[in-house]
Amino acid sequence: MKCSLCGVRDAEIYQAHKGRSLCRYCFIEDIRDRVKREIERLGLSRASKIVLAVSGGKDSYVLADTLASFIDHDKLVAYNIIEGISGYNRVEQVIQFKNFLNELGIELIEDSFEKSVGFTLDQMVANSKKRNLNVSACTFCGGFRRKLINTAGLKLNGDYVATGHNLDDEVQAIMLNVIRGDLIRLIRFGDKPIKLSSRFVLRVKPLRRIYEWETTMYAYYKGYKFQEVECPYIELKPTLRAKVRELLYALEEKRPGTLLQILDTFDIIAERVRSGSSFKDELPRCKICGDPTSYGREICKNCELLINSGLLNY
Ligand code: SF4
Ligand code: ZN
Ligand code: ZN
Repeated sequence: MKCSLCGVRDAEIYQAHKGRSLCRYCFIEDIRDRVKREIERLGLSRASKIVLAVSGGKDSYVLADTLASFIDHDKLVAYNIIEGISGYNRVEQVIQFKNFLNELGIELIEDSFEKSVGFTLDQMVANSKKRNLNVSACTFCGGFRRKLINTAGLKLNGDYVATGHNLDDEVQAIMLNVIRGDLIRLIRFGDKPIKLSSRFVLRVKPLRRIYEWETTMYAYYKGYKFQEVECPYIELKPTLRAKVRELLYALEEKRPGTLLQILDTFDIIAERVRSGSSFKDELPRCKICGDPTSYGREICKNCELLINSGLLNY
């Protein structure tokens, strides 16, 4: 079968949500076009600095590759965090990723939980276990990653922090927050970045309309060798996300395009809720670290985790 777009080369890939088959070249162009449209819609080319929050995984490669194609390289800076997970954070992967960014002309700033929080993730998890706290490694990891990424965005004077979240990540997170009833978290999603505190750098997700399988195939066709070792903590993740993922994939299989449809509908709802609500109030600041925290809290979740794990006195 020939490619539905060029009609010349053989089709290799089926985009079920569009009902068309593409050759690898038209597929790569399609992904780049969609990211370019997102960059234009968000006005990222007008920014003076964009901090790319990277991890060395496939989405980091796709994010850096596509943004570097459409935005001046000197406006981009990559920020990577070593969590401190034994057997997972491998030196050769970091070097490989650094070389890749170097070839694109993007500077890489490296940080670690150990350097900026004072403890490796392994230490935080071990301490919380000793105290019998029922907190998953991913709760520590996600919370401190967000904190350090935002701090880096502020320090580097970034107009935006760009992350490599894809469509699957985004819709799963939206559904999870719907299920948990976390309206504040939920309303942070949406197709326009929202600033709930002057201490937050605006976050954008240029890959949020690209399916995960598409980012995988893009990275594969481009020949990127990315971090494929699974994090040893992954099985300790709460299973709700896994269940939501399974359900969404079943829906997508039955009705291709479902994920995009959910995202589009959610974006409209988010816009309406934001425009007529009290979410314009500045978030309160944590009494310990000074970072923004949720309404009604005096101490942020991250500081609370360290206190409960016996790693911080208060
Ligand atoms: Fe962090 Fe959890 Fe991902 Fe491991 S699986 S890197 S602990 S969020
Ligand atoms: Zn083609
Ligand atoms: Zn705090």
